[in-house]
Amino acid sequence: MKYYSTNRQAPPASLEEAVIRGLAGDGGLYMPERIPTLEAAAIRSLKDKSFHEIADRVAQAFFGEDMDPDALTAIVQDTLSFDTPVVQVDGAIYSLELFHGPTLAFKDVGARFMARMLGYFIRRKGIDREVNVLVATSGDTGGAVANGFLGIPRIRVFVLYPGGKVSPIQECQFATLGQNITAVEIDGTFDDCQALVKAAFADGELNRRLQLTSANSINVARFLPQSFYYFHAFAQLDRAGRAGNLTVCVPSGNFGNLTAGLFARRMGLPVRQFIAANNRNDVFLEYLRTGIYTPRPSVATLANAMDVGNPSNFARILDLYGHDHAAIIQQVAGCRYTDEQIAATVREVCRAHRYLLDPHGACGYQALLDRRLQPGETGLFLETAHPAKFKETVDRITGIPVEIPPALQAFMQGKKQSIPLGKDIEGFKRFLLAQE
Ligand SMILES: *Cc1c(COP(=O)(O)O)cnc(C)c1O
Repeated sequence: MKYYSTNRQAPPASLEEAVIRGLAGDGGLYMPERIPTLEAAAIRSLKDKSFHEIADRVAQAFFGEDMDPDALTAIVQDTLSFDTPVVQVDGAIYSLELFHGPTLAFKDVGARFMARMLGYFIRRKGIDREVNVLVATSGDTGGAVANGFLGIPRIRVFVLYPGGKVSPIQECQFATLGQNITAVEIDGTFDDCQALVKAAFADGELNRRLQLTSANSINVARFLPQSFYYFHAFAQLDRAGRAGNLTVCVPSGNFGNLTAGLFARRMGLPVRQFIAANNRNDVFLEYLRTGIYTPRPSVATLANAMDVGNPSNFARILDLYGHDHAAIIQQVAGCRYTDEQIAATVREVCRAHRYLLDPHGACGYQALLDRRLQPGETGLFLETAHPAKFKETVDRITGIPVEIPPALQAFMQGKKQSIPLGKDIEGFKRFLLAQE
């Protein structure tokens, strides 16, 4: 299968090229030229299958013709070493818990899958130099990518983060690992980190001398595997007799997760409607309401992994629906919540249902509550991170200290190692060239 660019100014790429390059040459995002579908009988039989079997089925449909099917099965199994259970929170509202992976956030799925797929293509292509993954993080992405790529041969990861601006828990998740992971502490903001990564990709000399790639959700190998858990969630609800009339709500920032859900629906998953839940960064909601998309600088909120003012996967959503606003609003609704509303939801759900939401999942839960599901309808929201990842915020809201899971405690015992750098591209370039 070929992958085309959403800007349609670059030649179509093979899966291998799309994964190694990340972004198309014209700055567009890669899209598969066909979306395979599962027959109704296959959808009905999901409920008798394990997470590994379901994920393998979906992965083979997308990637099976472009790589060795047994290698793909091994990648799926190796990626999904943890479960994504569906838990009832309140009547017809269910939580899809995506936080049981190594860094306790949903990004573990895509990051682990991409690391293994990239490693496979590097071996198959016989690339004989190291591939350098550059990733800028405001907190969560760095941990998921660093842990996903840890120990993968022939790949080095450089995590750029704003010094003093990520939480101590987040910093531990990427700055204590060593091996092929290097944490680079930039004397600047997240935007400075992102600007350095972009400047490195645009630099001719760097690209001649080093093989560079990105691990953000623009990469098809990172965002597409996120469709696996939508099918697995459906199977779990079906087992409980609750899959009939389903609305799925996705707390969204760069919209990779929601886009993977829309792909799952296109593959045949029976979801009646999606809701994109946002914090005060609501350019997508504004687009749904007006048909006009106006990116703007992000504002800081309690749900900071969704503080995005120009979501990168918006281009994929437009492309998926042929830029037809009416078709998009038929299948995707939106909503926005302020910090006060997020805090009130976390507090109330903890009190009334004894379920501890994180600030991102809180937006998802509240959107389903505000929707007033009718009898026979089911609402499923994606709980994208473990509340302990946002301990300071959640403790302050509920007044009860969140227990830190052992996986997180283990990170906090590691020794921090990072390389301090300024925010100038010349210094960053010198640093990268010294790694040659
Ligand atoms: C990254 C992240 C999101 C946003 O996901 P997108 O795919 O970028 O829309 C939501 N919640 C948490 C906890 C995250 O880490």
